[in-house]
Amino acid sequence: MPKQENGQKEDSVIQNDLSESFGEEVRAFLGDEEKLHLFDDLTKVNPVTTTTVLKCLQARYRVNLFYTNAGCSLVALNPFQPVSCLYSPELMREYHGALRPQDLKPHIFAVAEQTYRNVQSQREPVNQSIIVSGESGAGKTWTSRCLMKFYASIAASVISPKANETVERIEKRVLDSNPVMEAFGNACTLRNNNSSRFGKYIQLQLDRSHHLSSASIQTFLLEKTRVAYQAPNERNFHIFYQITKGATAEERLEWNLPEGADFRWLPNSERNLDEDCFEVTRDAMFHLGIDRSTQNNIFKVLSGLLHLGNIQFSNPVDEAQPCELEDKTKDFVKTAGDLLKIPVEELLESLRIRTITAGKQQQIFKKPCSRAECETRRDCLAKAIYAKLFEWLVLVINESIYADPSAWTSFIGLLDVYGFEAFPENSLEQLCINYANEKLQQHFVAHYLKAQQEEYAAEGLQWSFINYQDNQNCLELIEANPLSIFSLLNEECRLNRPSNTDLFQTRIEKALSNNQCLSRNKFSKEPNFIISHYAGKVCYQLAAMVEKNKDPIPPELVNVLQNSKDPLLQKLFPVAEGNQNNIKTQNRAAVVTVVSKFKGSLEHLMQLVNSTTPHYIRCIKPNAGCKAMTFQREEVLSQLQACGIVEAITISAAGFPVRIPFQSFTERYEILRKPCPSNKNRVCDTSNHHTAKNKAYLDSAASSAFCNLLHAILFSERGWTLENTI
Ligand code: ADP
Ligand code: MG
Repeated sequence: MPKQENGQKEDSVIQNDLSESFGEEVRAFLGDEEKLHLFDDLTKVNPVTTTTVLKCLQARYRVNLFYTNAGCSLVALNPFQPVSCLYSPELMREYHGALRPQDLKPHIFAVAEQTYRNVQSQREPVNQSIIVSGESGAGKTWTSRCLMKFYASIAASVISPKANETVERIEKRVLDSNPVMEAFGNACTLRNNNSSRFGKYIQLQLDRSHHLSSASIQTFLLEKTRVAYQAPNERNFHIFYQITKGATAEERLEWNLPEGADFRWLPNSERNLDEDCFEVTRDAMFHLGIDRSTQNNIFKVLSGLLHLGNIQFSNPVDEAQPCELEDKTKDFVKTAGDLLKIPVEELLESLRIRTITAGKQQQIFKKPCSRAECETRRDCLAKAIYAKLFEWLVLVINESIYADPSAWTSFIGLLDVYGFEAFPENSLEQLCINYANEKLQQHFVAHYLKAQQEEYAAEGLQWSFINYQDNQNCLELIEANPLSIFSLLNEECRLNRPSNTDLFQTRIEKALSNNQCLSRNKFSKEPNFIISHYAGKVCYQLAAMVEKNKDPIPPELVNVLQNSKDPLLQKLFPVAEGNQNNIKTQNRAAVVTVVSKFKGSLEHLMQLVNSTTPHYIRCIKPNAGCKAMTFQREEVLSQLQACGIVEAITISAAGFPVRIPFQSFTERYEILRKPCPSNKNRVCDTSNHHTAKNKAYLDSAASSAFCNLLHAILFSERGWTLENTI
């Protein structure tokens, strides 16, 4: 709530109380470019519009100030270059040791420290979440990594003489999970050289004394299609490049990876990235309990996948015969079979022959697959192995950082999920990713925008409601029961009819025409639907969506994997009891669709997050090209609009950022208390605070006025003078 002073027009005034020169109230005009960078809290900008917010952020970016408070969120701009001392251990100590970390410059360490102190305060809910959001390349993973380092450094600094062993080990292991998960789950894309292709929620679990005692990691929907298909100018997962570039001569021989070998699934390998460092991954795996021989097994299987990718089929002369193998690929089949420990004949049969059960007697027939089907099966085999391997790695990491729930009493969760995506062509992967982002946005809206306004109403404060964009409609369109995009997709899978995307498009339109978030690109020949997301419209192509949702693994492939002699594959594909080699049973297995699984895991996550106190870090990518220190207004503007940050700032700025229970309020400002005739518990002279049912609500001016008064009294007690106190 800006104060009017000296006849200045209220809407042109910007306030900022600088922590380093407390007591001095800085006022500037929006046109005063030189002072714009001083606004370390966007709620103090007035008027709050995307333009004014943008101007401040740009001014700050120019002078290397990458973090800015925005009410309950922290806005983080990506510098796209290392900035010296921005994450140094000294700075971590400074924030950890500060009397009031929020008085220091805005920083992710301030959020981290505040979060940690919330746990210590034991106020309900004790558990905390830091939700890091932003589009691909905005800096989410970097931020999460820095937050983990911060907590690890706190853990290291609080090692008690007797508990030191565990603490040191656990924090190191938690940090070691990063390079492993990034090697297997990240890839170079057009938007980010180190793009996470999975979502992650890590719980840092604290014991009774608030020391890090253990952790657990939950992952979401790995983009496994990348193993067998990489878009032009993108790469496969980093680990494939690490093994082909970093293997020793001996390993090359054992894994059949001759120097300079050409693999179809390894495009753009001439591009060398920092992420190609094999040694770091190996060491981290070792620290997490994956011994060298198991590692060797993993890398051998991965090399097997690369050879599998080079297998090419050609149409047979006689249609009744299986597809031919192109001459040059025969060696690859053999090597793939050797590395995966599957007899070559069995491997080939599983890729080229389909087994059908039919008739009353459920007889088994064998039918050669078409060339396209063979290729789909080859890709499917690779995706199935890779996805299981990733799942298994997460399990092993979790075992290594696990502690019995009785050993910890609270947790801080860090959420790093893939950002909103809108490509020229979008499919089921983008639908799931954007659905996850809608869920997070709903959480933000519900927890912050809605909850804050409802609290004011409940506390009986005078308040005029501010409109915000609610995304409930959009979520209903995607996930509601009984009718939504997800339910229609599932219905198509359940009916298992030959896919007709034109008909499916009509069905979607008919069933969901009431929802205003649905439309269609009528100029496109491809069947499609458009969803108006909170972050913008996205057109999804229906081709292959139903198949992707089924995500079937042909039973012949499961069989061949279960019969492999490779110890790792045996672990990844155990034979279910009483189900050995039973194609009939496998054929009838109920299909749990991709969207159902994803919805389930996301709901579980949201329940967990809802039970915590949330903190938001909004990462912003200042330019599309990932160029160092380049601020493109259009880019930033669209991200600010997309994440509803302006509405949040408006509510924060118009509202009361400081709420203190009466008890703490009176204790804290006791020193200022002049006896009030009516109520001895009330602090007098509180121009900008409201006392409601349960709390004292202070706007930022009142808060700084109280602080200044407090300081003034302390100063005068010590014989100091301070000008400009309010
Ligand atoms: P996201 O997870 O949002 O897709 P990343 O965290 O992977 O994005 O960040 C993309 C790239 O941006 C990183 O690889 C790094 O080069 C750079 N980057 C991100 N944040 C920072 C930062 N705070 N300082 C320096 N570089 C950064
Ligand atoms: Mg990431």
